[in-house]
Amino acid sequence: MEVTLQHLTKKFPNRDRKKREDVTAVNDFSFEIPDGKLIGLLGPSGCGKSTTLNLISGLMKPTSGKIFFGKDDVTDLPPENRGIGLVFQNYALYPHLTVKQNILFPLQNLKGKDKLSKSEMLERAVQSAKLVQIDELMERRPGELSGGQQQRVAIARALVKMPKVLLLDEPLSNLDARLRLQTREEIRRIQKETKITTIFVTHDQEEAMSISDMIVVMKEGVVQQIGKPQEVYDNPANLFVARFLGTPPINVFEGQIRDGRLLIGKDVVLNTKNLSDRKVLTGIRPEGFLLEDNGPLCCEAGGVEVMGRDISIVSRNEASLNPAIRSIIGADSKIDPSKTEVRFSLVPRKVFLFDHETEERILF
Ligand code: ATP
Repeated sequence: MEVTLQHLTKKFPNRDRKKREDVTAVNDFSFEIPDGKLIGLLGPSGCGKSTTLNLISGLMKPTSGKIFFGKDDVTDLPPENRGIGLVFQNYALYPHLTVKQNILFPLQNLKGKDKLSKSEMLERAVQSAKLVQIDELMERRPGELSGGQQQRVAIARALVKMPKVLLLDEPLSNLDARLRLQTREEIRRIQKETKITTIFVTHDQEEAMSISDMIVVMKEGVVQQIGKPQEVYDNPANLFVARFLGTPPINVFEGQIRDGRLLIGKDVVLNTKNLSDRKVLTGIRPEGFLLEDNGPLCCEAGGVEVMGRDISIVSRNEASLNPAIRSIIGADSKIDPSKTEVRFSLVPRKVFLFDHETEERILF
């Protein structure tokens, strides 16, 4: 089922009496979510991710704009008539019911032509439980399950009605690091198997990048960029997006274009022939630095951090806006610990320039 958002806007009255202006939680969001894909809605706290999801689910009404499921305008439909499955951060399971009863619950309220017989309901519940691999835990109560298992029950409960659209709001936030990793892969597997159009809200860029077909990066209610995770990482539209994606984060420097060349401090680091002289912000991905004895960018050495397969060289430079510059090199690289400076050449496609005022990308 494709989901189309047309100029979707949601405003809330401002509770701060001194500020008359409404809070615009979602601002003119238009996007056609393709059928059968997993979309990651991504951005910092308060950027409007949950509000967008609540609008799609019908839990909230938009101030303006429309939502279509396929060709049907669902903007005014209540959530129960939209054919959606919802999963939240707190699993919201009924503690006094068993896993089986929790999963069956949504089916028991079906009416009219959707009504199922007892055996049909049970069959569906077992099918859903199998999909999330909890079919052996059917007689337990939520209190007897781990966090990861509880979240699987919540997912099974959302799937049992065979939703057309699955909406997940920070579903992994209550899980520890290992379970998060495992459960996100499970979600991806289930989504691929069921081919249900899925929208996944998270503030964790790595999580969104790793499982999404496409990501939507939001800031203050406004969509900043939409694309495949790797495309957005390799081609950020602005400094905000560049900074939001990637660990370690992108290194940002004050820079200057002079005579068709990019300067960081006094170092001439790249050719930028087609650009006129101006101040720029320069973003360099950690993997964009190459250790080189005579490299053009000179930084003060600040030690190394070993991260298993890779080494991160920590260094400083007066023009850097990050307190420490982190560059990643292979673990077999030779580093002379006695040196007080490190020199780098740069990988041009890992270097991005941004307008000093608007912070929009400048292509070169
Ligand atoms: P988080 O990751 O912290 O959940 P989010 O990106 O999901 O954040 P939203 O919950 O969608 O953000 O909130 C977006 C903005 O709308 C915030 O500024 C928030 O304070 C505001 N907001 C959300 N719900 C309401 C409400 N019911 N009344 C007033 N303002 C609201």
